[in-house]
Amino acid sequence: APAFAYGEALQKSLFFYEAQQSGALPDWNRVSWRGDSAMDDGDDVGVDLTGGWYDAGDHVKFGFPMAFSATMLAWGAVEYRDAYVSSGQLTHLLNNLKFVNDYFIKAHPSPNVLYGQVGNGGRDHAWWGPAEAMQMERPAYKIDASCGGSELAGETAAAMAASSIVFRPTNPSYADTLVTHAKQLYSFADTVRKKYTDCISDAQGYYNSHSGFNDELVWGAIWLHRATNEAAYLAKAESYYDNLSNEPQTTIKSYKWTIAWDDKSYGAYVLLHKLTGKQRYLDDANRWLDWWTVGVDGAKVRYSPGGQAVLDRWGSLRYAANTSFAALVHSDSITDAARKARYHDFAVRQIDYALGDNPRNSSYVVGFGANPPKNPHHRTAHGSYTDQLSFPEQTRHTLYGALVGGPPDPNDAYTDKRDDYVMNEVATDYNAGFTSALARLYKEYGGAPATGFPAAETPDGPEIFVEAGVNASGGNFTEIKAIVRNQSAWPARVLSDGSFRYYFTLDGTTTASQLSVSSAYTQCAAPTLHQAGGSTYYAEIDCSGQEIAPAGQSQHRREVQFRIASAGTWDPANDWSYQGIPTTPGTTPARTENITLYSGATKIWGDPP
Ligand code: BGC
Ligand code: CA
Ligand code: CA
Repeated sequence: APAFAYGEALQKSLFFYEAQQSGALPDWNRVSWRGDSAMDDGDDVGVDLTGGWYDAGDHVKFGFPMAFSATMLAWGAVEYRDAYVSSGQLTHLLNNLKFVNDYFIKAHPSPNVLYGQVGNGGRDHAWWGPAEAMQMERPAYKIDASCGGSELAGETAAAMAASSIVFRPTNPSYADTLVTHAKQLYSFADTVRKKYTDCISDAQGYYNSHSGFNDELVWGAIWLHRATNEAAYLAKAESYYDNLSNEPQTTIKSYKWTIAWDDKSYGAYVLLHKLTGKQRYLDDANRWLDWWTVGVDGAKVRYSPGGQAVLDRWGSLRYAANTSFAALVHSDSITDAARKARYHDFAVRQIDYALGDNPRNSSYVVGFGANPPKNPHHRTAHGSYTDQLSFPEQTRHTLYGALVGGPPDPNDAYTDKRDDYVMNEVATDYNAGFTSALARLYKEYGGAPATGFPAAETPDGPEIFVEAGVNASGGNFTEIKAIVRNQSAWPARVLSDGSFRYYFTLDGTTTASQLSVSSAYTQCAAPTLHQAGGSTYYAEIDCSGQEIAPAGQSQHRREVQFRIASAGTWDPANDWSYQGIPTTPGTTPARTENITLYSGATKIWGDPP
């Protein structure tokens, strides 16, 4: 039996990408607690930029890691499509890969223009709430011929070219479209030769290009060659290979890092060897993977006592997973038996570590295996309606399949803390190489996907409701303090056309003309009086125009104090909406179902008499 249910991990890993969807959700989205969001993206520049993936636990759409993630996912299916078919996950992969490529198509409105970011890092990170309730401005940023962007254009070309190979068998016209965009983007990247943060300076603090663009120029050419079979692209990749970085003061290609969103050199070693069989690429790939396994000249990546290869603090498991996937591809394309086993076994060990074979005997994948993380650094999964990272205490949704950052140090130590974005954030790029490695391991070991996945979540209580209590009372009046609260998270939604009704019964011979309604304090409109039928009346309070959103302490609630007074007799005891609410003046209002709440004409809470 396989050590872990690799098929289930693969299935859940793909689900994570659906949790990251921005814009209008497609009907195949399986996340019961997600809704449409960021529907105005691109309005500021007159281009429809809805769609794509939220980067991580935040809601910026960073194009550079998004493209890298798409490339890594596509790469897995290019190599191991059979595993996607046999595990039943091909449709889910194609769905998710198409979703992100559709966004790249929108983001590339003309050959030398590519929108590479929507949302401002600082403004986005300053707020902690669900994507569906975002209210900050989300500026769009582009690269163009004036200031460049070779990393971004080169990686997006790689993503679209790699994806075209995956779509070719089932959707050839879409594959052709992707190739057309990829060629234009590559030629732009190759011509402009400038750093993408020269155009998109906001990305600098988050996804700065440390390795430069030479690796993306090699990488993009490799993928265009694989997508088109055109020899010119392979020739380009090989001729640019010399520009890849070397170890300091040597002519040896860098080997003390790994393939991740910034530097694709390591992927180029593996693929150029696979495509050409040349010794030079083989040596570079082997040296790199030896540094990750047995060491090179006595130096190697740091290992924890429990067996985790730890390259860097932030998202350590992602580096190990990316390396594992490339190691598996390389292992599958070499003949040297010792190295074949070495790189393969390394990858199995690292992926198993993430799945639970570690000193904590715990999974690092949300919703998978033993004792998985429950509090990842992820705004929408947390579901705070008060703009607070620490409230509510428990995360409200299960972000199935998300690989968390993992131990920052090589000591197997980890705490499941939401505020720790170094070890407990999740990201589209964290899951990408991981997903592809899982497909490869499923192919070898099996491990069935879960049946009946995903079960729809049950909300943790009423989502949008009314609280009320008596604020003051007298012989001929009742004054109510009512609060509309929006704690919605299945999915989070904004109530912008709300209204509610307080029902009461006329007493004795009192007539409607003897009644009056007033309000000393209202965050909505003043109350109005209506007859419900017979002697039953209601005061209606219109909150339309107010965006009651699960987006902050004041944003998620509206308070109204209103008084119903009678010039005739007045007895609240028989009033429908008076039932069950606290009647001692000044008591905290309590949730009541005897006040009805509407969104437009639709009743969304409570029961009328
Ligand atoms: C955000 C994270 C981000 C980190 C560093 C935090 O405020 O929530 O998503 O990774 O800042 O930029
Ligand atoms: Ca680079
Ligand atoms: Ca009454």
